[in-house]
Amino acid sequence: MDIEQFRKAGYQAIDRICDYYYSLQNRPVISKVEPGYLKQHLPLTAPEKGEDFQVIADDYQKFIVPGLTHWQHPSFFGYFPTACTFEGIIAELYATSTSNPGFNWTSSPACTELEALVMDWAAQLLGLSAAFLNSSGIGGGSLQTTASDSALISVVAARSLYQQTHPDAKLEDLVIYTTTQTHSLGLKAGLVLGLSVRALEVKSEDRFSLKGETLRIALEEDEKQGKKPFILIATVGTTSSGAIDNLPEIKAVVKDHPSLWIHVDAAWAGVAMSCPENREKCFLNEINEFANSFCTNFHKWGLVNFDASTLWVRNRKHLTDALDVTPPFLRSTHGDAGTVIDYRNWHLALGRRFRSLKLWFVLRSFGAEGFRAYIRRTIALNQQFADFIATSDILSLVTPPSLALSVFRIEPKRNSPDQVALSTESLNSLNRLFYGRISARDDILLTQTVLNGVHCIRFAVGAARTESSHIQAACDLLHTEAKLAIEAWEP
Ligand code: PLP
Repeated sequence: MDIEQFRKAGYQAIDRICDYYYSLQNRPVISKVEPGYLKQHLPLTAPEKGEDFQVIADDYQKFIVPGLTHWQHPSFFGYFPTACTFEGIIAELYATSTSNPGFNWTSSPACTELEALVMDWAAQLLGLSAAFLNSSGIGGGSLQTTASDSALISVVAARSLYQQTHPDAKLEDLVIYTTTQTHSLGLKAGLVLGLSVRALEVKSEDRFSLKGETLRIALEEDEKQGKKPFILIATVGTTSSGAIDNLPEIKAVVKDHPSLWIHVDAAWAGVAMSCPENREKCFLNEINEFANSFCTNFHKWGLVNFDASTLWVRNRKHLTDALDVTPPFLRSTHGDAGTVIDYRNWHLALGRRFRSLKLWFVLRSFGAEGFRAYIRRTIALNQQFADFIATSDILSLVTPPSLALSVFRIEPKRNSPDQVALSTESLNSLNRLFYGRISARDDILLTQTVLNGVHCIRFAVGAARTESSHIQAACDLLHTEAKLAIEAWEP
């Protein structure tokens, strides 16, 4: 493809992307293709002779788009939001156009300098303390691929710090603390690093939030047995129910355990702190006072296209002590002088994507005001959904709505005290049937979870195009499906 052919194909691609967004709400949310569908359409080996690009572009429409689940669809309420924006799409195009692995300052000064700057913008947007800013020269922020990478890097840094301060500690005694509600990233970090993971129990009456007392007892038990808990992965906004671990209580406990690194995973919920009214509920003060590292994904609820996981650390030296490997071919004058950030020492790989460009485009184009307006709008849409559940006679919230997430299930309200309550088992089987009906549809997407044995359904709002009318349509649909599930149910 030469430059003029690229120009033509590029214009066509943008036109087709616009058509995609215009037609999005008329498409099914979920792809209904069967496993292996693509093999029926594509050859099993790459072509020997190059093909005409128009044919390739048309095949994308013909074979790939039908196999996509449309996360930007206004009736997508599954998993977590991935609200991408046109600003982000354009930034990705520019970023990929120079295909620049910008791993240290010298290899592409703009990549490092923009990342350092916009990470400070993002930190200030969320209300993070000046200690986390790149401009502090001590703490700092970087863009990672995912919250799982951010957690893994934090565990690696915490382990290295622990080993520096406890040179006699044996690797097999080190323990990563999570809770039963922590995302699988905790277990995965343990798996990758060959470290034990202890998932602390949380209770439904505490809304699945980790209590200080649970942590204190576990620390005492483990330390008595010679175990070395060295990091706690706390969560602000768990995946299943949006639970927020009790950071004030945790802070009081870790005063007596200063070697415990606190990583706060706020993968989907953290961007809510851009609005001052959400900061207390997300324990921003405590994050600022004692978290060693904090992560939120702007690629989830933060209007930035995947991937843009923002990770801040209170002390960048803990990252670089753990991750700096500098062979002669990577040395540079500025790196040696320590006058620049070399982001290659802040993550696992060498090369880095130029992710800061999309964060910069989005934050400038929306402004803090526009960003906050979007967050507030989605929280209000979730409240609209939660209000509907609260007034339903057959559906109930399992936990109070958390920011943009509601967790609910069929639980018919009892009309009289004589009416016998259904057992958890019965309700679970009814709700499995209900969820089976919802997931068989292609015009809406919700995901399920189990909270301490209770089968529930999650409703996560956040697609940039979701309006009040889509919430209303979802309420009507869920009400009808719930009634049909109850009618079809045989206890
Ligand atoms: N942490 C929480 C609380 C999440 O909800 C999720 C995604 O569902 C993750 C981590 C995983 O994020 P990532 O795919 O960026 O690793």
